[in-house]
Amino acid sequence: MHKVVRNDSPGSLLRKHQEWTTLLKTNNNLKEDWESVDKKIKEDVKIALKDMYKGCCCYCEGKVEPTSYLHIEHFKPKSRYKELCYDYNNLHYCCERCNITKGTKYSTKMFSPTTHDPEQFIKYIGETATGKDTTGRGAYMIRILKLNERRDLKDERAKILRGFEERISDITDSLGIIVRNDYEKSNIDLILPHIKRLIANIEEHMQHGESYCSMVKHNFCEQLKILEEIYKELEYKYTLYK
Ligand SMILES: [Zn+2]
Repeated sequence: MHKVVRNDSPGSLLRKHQEWTTLLKTNNNLKEDWESVDKKIKEDVKIALKDMYKGCCCYCEGKVEPTSYLHIEHFKPKSRYKELCYDYNNLHYCCERCNITKGTKYSTKMFSPTTHDPEQFIKYIGETATGKDTTGRGAYMIRILKLNERRDLKDERAKILRGFEERISDITDSLGIIVRNDYEKSNIDLILPHIKRLIANIEEHMQHGESYCSMVKHNFCEQLKILEEIYKELEYKYTLYK
């Protein structure tokens, strides 16, 4: 999970929320009825949420489509917080598996990507999510969402990590050859584009909108700095040949 800046509510939902708030003022016994909300309004909400989350699940950060179905997540469950049922600020873009796993669970220990910075609470070590705050909120959220217990989810995260690790390992091997050959010009020439591409790919995968971006950030932040230093050093040595 990572911090996401909320966009504006679709006008159609805003009007529905305002009508509902007015109705509740005169009759607090009314029941929310999200299921019956006009299809057009739900479509507007899906488009706005997808844009806000760039197609990634608010909790697991996996791309919702095509491997899962989009669910509109009510962070505070509508069954308990009916005043927030049509409030856009309570809605998130969510994959089916996270939506079902979380269900109607809610407590003040929980946090959403638009109200908190989740990276203050959750850190990925390898493909495993770990709680990093002393209050235990991160660990609590990980348990509620079963972020480490869902095999398919862990496998997807591991696949991305292994991909980058293998590329770093290949570059490390090539660097060994370059050093042994006393920084031969042709060898530097060959490896520079590979390092540049890897740096760009890692940086890109750390961005909002990329699947499991916080995991990539937590795992490769330091290695990225090292790769950048190596690139600069090799680039400098290359200029000495000119
Ligand atoms: Zn998810």
